[in-house]
Amino acid sequence: VVDRYIQQRPRSAEIYQRAVEDLPDGVTHDKRFMTPFPTYIQRAKGSRKWDVDGNEYVDYVMGHGALLLGHCHPEVTQAVVEQVQKFTHPGGSHELEVEWAELVKSLIPSAEKVRFTSSGTEATHMAIRLARAYTGRKKIVKLEGHFHGWHDGVAKAQTPPYDRKTPGIPDEISELTLVSPAKLESIEKIFSSDRDIAAIIFEPSGASYGTVPLPEGFVQGLKDLSDRYGVLLICDEVVTGFRWSPGGVQALAGIKPDLTTLAKILAGGFPGGAVAGRADILDLISHASDPAKRIVHQGTFNANPVSAAAGVECLKIVGSSDVCQQAASKAAVLRSRLNEKFEDLQIPGCAYGESSICHIIIGEEVPNRVRGDLQRPDLPEDVLRTKGTNQQLMWLFDLAMMNEGVDLFSGSAFVSSYHTDEDIDLTIDA
Ligand code: PMP
Repeated sequence: VVDRYIQQRPRSAEIYQRAVEDLPDGVTHDKRFMTPFPTYIQRAKGSRKWDVDGNEYVDYVMGHGALLLGHCHPEVTQAVVEQVQKFTHPGGSHELEVEWAELVKSLIPSAEKVRFTSSGTEATHMAIRLARAYTGRKKIVKLEGHFHGWHDGVAKAQTPPYDRKTPGIPDEISELTLVSPAKLESIEKIFSSDRDIAAIIFEPSGASYGTVPLPEGFVQGLKDLSDRYGVLLICDEVVTGFRWSPGGVQALAGIKPDLTTLAKILAGGFPGGAVAGRADILDLISHASDPAKRIVHQGTFNANPVSAAAGVECLKIVGSSDVCQQAASKAAVLRSRLNEKFEDLQIPGCAYGESSICHIIIGEEVPNRVRGDLQRPDLPEDVLRTKGTNQQLMWLFDLAMMNEGVDLFSGSAFVSSYHTDEDIDLTIDA
């Protein structure tokens, strides 16, 4: 598998030789690191992309989940090109940011006010600052394995072992973030024993875009619990927002978190994020608020007009069509057909997940594997979290799939509304 990977990619190997001279690990994101070397992409369209060696892929990385509408969606692209020709930075306010916020408010049930940032990491950072300023409390709670970006407040407990230290983050800061398993009893224990908790932040898909699904009824249970203890609820819908439904998980679960963080699909495949939520909390950024409580927030590229143009176009499509449902139906077919294939070939493993995401585990006996769609496999949490106990096999599986023309995101697939039946056929054959 590795030999074939190398043989198919002479030009990528060359570029990587340059990359390691300049970039740590030769890459720009921890998850883009790949042994023996990454594949360099040259162009993309719809559900497909092509590398610098001319290899074609069905793409399931889909901009780390940002591209619900596929690569270079015609209307999004047109809006961006038109905007670039007008201005790329107004040095002040512009009308598109207002339209963008109006669309967010019309789709996300809890959004009374919106503040744009440049990324999801900045959005969770701001949400936590807002929660601290609003409550006057210092600590936050995050859940094991849940991902909220890389800033100091949330960079711990992303992968097992969850009590590992995070170099570069002083203990005094790290200690302000308490970590709980995704169990309501454990969270209640923390809430009831510590009165200095400003907020709890969580991924409503379950840890790591649903790799470890949440227990049944968890989202509503957490909302009730945080209300009862007066702890603010930050729902991190960076992945699920505009994907699980046009209004995210909160619209499906019928809850209104105090604060919601958004990014990825929000900006239609361009850099951008936002905090949305209760007006009385968001207004702590306002100049009208009590000077003693007012918090600062700047950012050269907040609500950048190019991202806003893409975001407005993308959210209009999400809000006025069934793209979320289309993508979810295709992902359900992909999960079913993979499970059927595993069953037919007697391969231990499974495909599972919710909405338009499909997680794949290879090399693990799955007690409740079915022929067909599987949302939660009955596997221990640590096995789910690491996508199986045989990491060498999972690595080879990802490489082998690339050799066969399918690019997965560490054994997972983000399905877009643009993936076709032919893409799924090709994936199953691969
Ligand atoms: N929250 C969640 C749930 C995410 O999945 C991510 C990114 N994968 C982030 C926050 C951070 O977003 P960004 O990469 O835009 O900083």
